[in-house]
Amino acid sequence: MMVKRQTILAVDDTVANLDILVNLLQDFDVIEAIGGEEALDIIAQEEVDLILLDIMMPGMDGYTVCRKIKENDQNQDIPIIFITSRSDENAIEKAYDTGGVDYVTKPFKPKELLARVKIQLEHQEMIEKLEFMASHDPMTGIYNRRKFFELANRKFKEQPENLYAAMLDIDKFKKINDSYGHPTGDRVIKAVTGAISDILDEGSVFGRLGGEEFAILCHHSDQNVVVNSLEFIRKKIESLEVLSESGELIKCTISEGVAKVDETTRNLDELLQRADEMLYKAKGSGRNKTIFRI
Ligand code: GH3
Ligand code: MG
Ligand code: MG
Repeated sequence: MMVKRQTILAVDDTVANLDILVNLLQDFDVIEAIGGEEALDIIAQEEVDLILLDIMMPGMDGYTVCRKIKENDQNQDIPIIFITSRSDENAIEKAYDTGGVDYVTKPFKPKELLARVKIQLEHQEMIEKLEFMASHDPMTGIYNRRKFFELANRKFKEQPENLYAAMLDIDKFKKINDSYGHPTGDRVIKAVTGAISDILDEGSVFGRLGGEEFAILCHHSDQNVVVNSLEFIRKKIESLEVLSESGELIKCTISEGVAKVDETTRNLDELLQRADEMLYKAKGSGRNKTIFRI
């Protein structure tokens, strides 16, 4: 199995110190930065998994570099280990206060530094796994209800103009469960969400609100594009064939209700409520329909 090598950014004002780190960290991709300015440039361009940061450097010191890195939300999770020749209590306290996760004093013991690097990378990996589990539906891999609402609320606050919500629900799904069994029902849900994920662009937020009910939030300046995309999704699901547990090919349809933010929409819940009303109409007028009312 190919394992992705992790990238470590080593920051020091002395080339000889960087050479030692490169030599020690041979299992990793090491990017060297001579000084704080260069470190900040690299951080802005490269994906870095961990940073080893010298404190005493001419120009910008390590504390300042750390603070500047942590100012950017996207860098919050990157562990920063300080490497310092200062061992007084105040220097150590300041290292943690500015956002460091650990510190090592110079001259460091190579095996100790390596162990500290590895443990921080493992912690980070574990946090990422837990964050994924907390935000995704385990069956379909799409956003769960909690994450959908978090991202959707953010979208609504950041830019309510031209924002659309769609509520989607599989038609007569209970009958699929009753006829073919629950595991086949699960297959249908996975096939439906897989097909929808393939169609949606990256800017859309797509989540499982519960059971066989899903929601999409997206921006577009052209209303026709939104409605056409949802119609495309509906038809795609209509043409989908899912293999049941017993080997039969089964089909399903979905109903969709769509709403657009207008001057009366005060919050996300109201927008979703209106989309839900349209979904209810679609269900009441024969199903396998997309209903949008401005
Ligand atoms: P309608 O067209 O009006 O939406 O009818 P429906 O049968 O799809 O709706 P209803 O809400 O009556 O039934 C939904 C069913 O979905 C009931 C529930 O047991 C089933 N369900 C909910 N979550 C899951 C799941 O994760 N897997 C499976 N297989 N079934 C589920
Ligand atoms: Mg249903
Ligand atoms: Mg339902």
